[in-house]
Order: sequence, then structure tokens, then C-alpha cells
Amino acid sequence: MSFGIDNLPYGVFSRRGESPRVGVRFEDRVLDLAAALGDEVFLAPSLNPFMARGRQAWTETRARIQDVLRGGAEQHLIPLDQVTLHLPFEVADYVDFYCSIDHASNVGKIFRPNSEPLTPNWRHLPIGYHGRAGTVVVSGTPVRRPNGQLKAGVFGPCERLDIEAELGFVVGVPSELGSPAGAFEDHVFGVTLLNDWSARDIQAWEYVPLGPFLGKSFATSISPWITPLEALPRVPGPAQDPEPLDYLRRGADWGLDIAVEVWLNGEIVSRPPYASMYWTPDQMLAHMTVNGASLRTGDLFASGTISGPEREERGSLIELTWNGTDPIKLAGGETRGFLQDGDTVTLRATAGDLTLGEVSGTIG
Ligand code: MN
Repeated sequence: MSFGIDNLPYGVFSRRGESPRVGVRFEDRVLDLAAALGDEVFLAPSLNPFMARGRQAWTETRARIQDVLRGGAEQHLIPLDQVTLHLPFEVADYVDFYCSIDHASNVGKIFRPNSEPLTPNWRHLPIGYHGRAGTVVVSGTPVRRPNGQLKAGVFGPCERLDIEAELGFVVGVPSELGSPAGAFEDHVFGVTLLNDWSARDIQAWEYVPLGPFLGKSFATSISPWITPLEALPRVPGPAQDPEPLDYLRRGADWGLDIAVEVWLNGEIVSRPPYASMYWTPDQMLAHMTVNGASLRTGDLFASGTISGPEREERGSLIELTWNGTDPIKLAGGETRGFLQDGDTVTLRATAGDLTLGEVSGTIG
């Protein structure tokens, strides 16, 4: 586990009897930023006011925090076991993409066995949908199994409850920018692990023709920690065929080399590689705003399920178990097609030497 001086993810914490405020994680402690930097923006119970300051402020603040930590700062470091972690930002709009070619191919085969797995548009644009910002919850929040229409005439609790291992990108928009002109790194503050809980039976019945709705909107979990974009090692994205349109052409290497782990009840069941994603986050942002749609501080857009080409790299249970027909065998002899009540799913990830903050949830 590495939460050293090159990492420093931001979050919102509180101590017993005190109001939530902004801190950064350093090893197993939280640096109280309002106290350490003497800046009232960090007294807010969310990262939004700080994120609205923009890229230059983010970069300068990160350098100041590193200076403060090199100087000791013992009096402003609070052990993690003395704090409660909160949802780190107020979510404005939430968009979920579908950027893994392996995930899209697998799900296409499962949901539409008689058609081409990839829809004709898939290689031309990063497909996405608008999700529900108000049900984005912080790691540790219990997830209730949703009720809904499972098929024609059948209502009841979801029987095919699933996860999607994803990366979320968090937007900060300084007022002087306002519109989405500018470089990717001017708009994106950082990244968070995200679990897009999915009710596959509700989804399969409802999704044609307008896409995911109640099968997704009951809960989306994120890590309490937002890793600054500049902490992450970047790699070229994968080759794309056909060449995308001009507005989707990559200006810089915004592929990310992040190794994700999916844990189910304390066992690793998959290791999705983020580097295998077909569409990169700069392309997601360009596509999301090409029609003139504005950005707001607190916008969250997610990658879609991260799945690699290998079976043990798939980022959802529907793929890992092929729609429940080939269940996962857990130690102790239990098997899982989809999630049972009491199951806990935790996503963990590393990027080189850095650790991302984990996201966990238990079905209640
Ligand atoms: Mn998703």
C-alpha cells in the first residue's frame, strides 16, 4: 500500500463532534488542509469550492502540501482510525460510458446473441448515458437490493444483482473557463474507483430503446479518495480503427495504466487492466461536450466496466459467470452467479507505485 508524497488523494473527513472538511491522505493519516494551509476553502464539507479554482490552483496546492509534509506537519496529521470519511464532492451531473471493447463485446454476445456483439456505432464514438447523480454514494454505504420489473408481468427483488468495476473522472470548472474549451487536464481534477451496481434482470427488460434506467440508478459507489490526475502515470491509448473524427483525435497520451482488482467476500475474483480501454478519458470529455453541453464543477463521468481480453480480467459478474451459467467458485465451496444478500464487493487499484482509494459496498 502506497499513500506517499507522490500520491496524496483528496477526501472529506470529520472527527467526532466536528464538521466535515477537506483533507489529503498521507500514509495512514489525513492532513487537515484548512489548518495546515490556512485556507478556508478547505473548511467546506466538499471538494467543490476547491475544484472550482482550476488547474493552476490544483497544481500549486499540491506542491504546497508536499512542502508542508516534507517539513513534518505532525500537528495537522490525524490517524485514519479517528476519522469518518464522507462523499468527497457534491456530484453535479453523472455520465457513464462504455469504453471497454472487451466488455462491450461480451455483453453484446450475452444480451444480443443473434447480432453482431458490437453495435455499428461502437468504434465511431464513446457510447454513454446520463446516470443519476443523486444516488452516488461513498464507499461503505450499504446497497439495498432493488425491486423492479424483471420481465413482462413480473415485479420483485432483483435476482441478478451485479457490479461494474470502473474508473470515475471528477470535473472542476473555474468560472473563467465556463465552457468546455481548453485541455483535458484543465477540466479534470482527479479520478476515483467507482462501482456501478447493476440489476441485470431489470436492465435487460427495460433498456431497449433508451438505455439503462432503473437497473442502474439505485446506487453507484465511489471511493472517498480522489486521486489527483497529475499523480497518475499516463500511457498512449490503444490503436483505434477506424481513425476517429477530428474532435475525437487524441492530442496527448491520456491512456492510464491502472491495475484494478475485484474482491468478493475477501477473495480476488478478477484483475481488470485499465490500459486495455479502447476510448480514453480525453475522448470521453470531448464527446460529452461536442454538442455544446456545458460542464459544472462536480460533474462525474465514468469509464464503463473495465474488462480485459482474458476471462480473469472481466470487470462484472455477468461476464465472469457468463450470465450466471458458469458460477465463480469461492474458497470454502460457495459459488456465485450474481450477488447474494450480505456479499461485500471491494474494488482496489494500483497505478505503478501508487494505490488508489478503495471502494466497497455490502448488499443489505
Ligand atoms: Mn457502468
